[in-house]
Amino acid sequence: MKVLVADPISEEAIDLMRKEGLEVDVKTDISHEELVKIIPEYDALIVRSRTKVTKEVIEAGKMLKIIGRAGVGVDNIDLKTATEKGIIVVNAPGGNTISAAELTLGLMFAIARKIPQADRSVKEGRWERKKFMGVELRGKTIGIIGLGRIGYEVAKRVRALEMNILAYDPYVSEERAKSVGAKLVSLEELLRNSDIITIHVPKTKETENLISEKEFEMMKDGVFIINAARGGIVNEKALYEAIVKGKVAGAALDVYEKEPPDPDNPLLKLDNVVTTPHIGASTKEAQLSVGMIIAEEFINFAKGLPVKNAVNLPRVGPEEYQFLLPFMELAEKMGKIAVARLKGQFKLVRITYRGAIAKKNTELVTRALLKGILSYILGESVNLVSALPIARDRGIVIEEAKTEDVEHYESLVEVTVGDGKEIYLAGTCFGDEPRILMIDKYKVDFVPRGHYIISLHEDKPGVIGRVGTLFGQHNINIAGMIVGRYGGRGGIQLMLLLVDDPPSDDVLRKMVELDGILDATYVYL
Ligand code: NAD
Repeated sequence: MKVLVADPISEEAIDLMRKEGLEVDVKTDISHEELVKIIPEYDALIVRSRTKVTKEVIEAGKMLKIIGRAGVGVDNIDLKTATEKGIIVVNAPGGNTISAAELTLGLMFAIARKIPQADRSVKEGRWERKKFMGVELRGKTIGIIGLGRIGYEVAKRVRALEMNILAYDPYVSEERAKSVGAKLVSLEELLRNSDIITIHVPKTKETENLISEKEFEMMKDGVFIINAARGGIVNEKALYEAIVKGKVAGAALDVYEKEPPDPDNPLLKLDNVVTTPHIGASTKEAQLSVGMIIAEEFINFAKGLPVKNAVNLPRVGPEEYQFLLPFMELAEKMGKIAVARLKGQFKLVRITYRGAIAKKNTELVTRALLKGILSYILGESVNLVSALPIARDRGIVIEEAKTEDVEHYESLVEVTVGDGKEIYLAGTCFGDEPRILMIDKYKVDFVPRGHYIISLHEDKPGVIGRVGTLFGQHNINIAGMIVGRYGGRGGIQLMLLLVDDPPSDDVLRKMVELDGILDATYVYL
């Protein structure tokens, strides 16, 4: 197998591949044009984030079978084209976890003891011992938002500093938190009680601006903030204001809403903000580790063994794929609705296939359901291939049942997600069009494409009118509405609104405050 290494990876990884009989060429300053020219000779390509593996590169790569990303994010690879061409794309998740966790600790010490500021002062010829009064970390409370790979490693390490650990992550179990000495709490409890808050969630629709004005208001005076996850999870304008007001005593940022940040970004002008240029994964060990992970994947692939971290879809027969496609869309969207409505932990994912679909190989549909659920929580990097191992890793029980027994429809897919509190959905496909037919006990019938608000309300006069007025006042057009009535007049009923534009959190909050509205969930399908 002939491998082109287009971005620097560790020598050890290259040596390992060569030792295993792979032919490896290293051309790490190659331009896009040159890459397009030479890629036809190669079976495999390794990149980091510099090289853009565009459609043009993939289409030119007639022999290309596997692409490796030595790192996690695959946004520089055209996954869609690679998948269409049956090219496997692998990445190296977890390879930089420890490095990112250690940087977080470094940043924590830096802001608590003002180390970068003190360094600057001494080098500029001053001796200002009083100015750099810091705080001890022992006995302080750290709030970890996101207890995934990195958040967990941060928790493990701060235990040694004798800190109290609070964690907010609605998708992990009490046991996971307990095993690392953290107390699982609500976001509000974490914000109100932490002396230091560190962010370790992926950037998703749900986590964008997760920490904004309202959240800063809840925090203790003199809190420290660290963001080494992704820019935009902490709103930069709100952070600036909270620092200027004195609410936040110091912040450390490795990531920014725009990278590199504009030189006139006001945060960069504040003395109590410590900045680094997105170097969470920039250690020799992380680079070695991601390189070795990719090298091992390539060696396995060359031997015909399965790869572990494929981020795209393996090839399936074109006819079966066509049949399954609308069901995959259906399942993915049912997953999104389920997890959006549940807003919390779940252990069980059950999918039942009825009728014609039960006769097919439904593995892709089940994976699509898991992708819908997990991408809502973990971001767009979850795909059909990675969804299953991630779900297993997180201890999610997946149950699949099949029966040819079905009424009214040719095929029916039923989904239940939960842990104690469960949500049920049923749907089918008419041709290429997925249709959701039931949400819990409520009959609905809609094509899950667009911006939806799902809400429970009391079945009494005026409720729907008030919702209409609210959306009108905020200039949001309601393009469709379904009221799924159950058990006749009165009681609690389900309302489904299709809106032309996403509602702000403020509109959703106002909706829930309306008389007769019990809850409201926005989900983009
Ligand atoms: P992970 O997927 O292992 O963990 C993320 C955790 O966030 C999960 O446990 C998930 O349940 C939780 N989560 C999701 N939505 C949430 C929400 N709304 N509220 C609370 N918790 C939520 O990811 P990871 O490998 O630990 O990475 C965490 C972050 O660090 C990511 O944003 C990643 O891109 C970033 N990262 C940055 C660098 C860097 O160079 N600065 C390096 C590596 C990773």
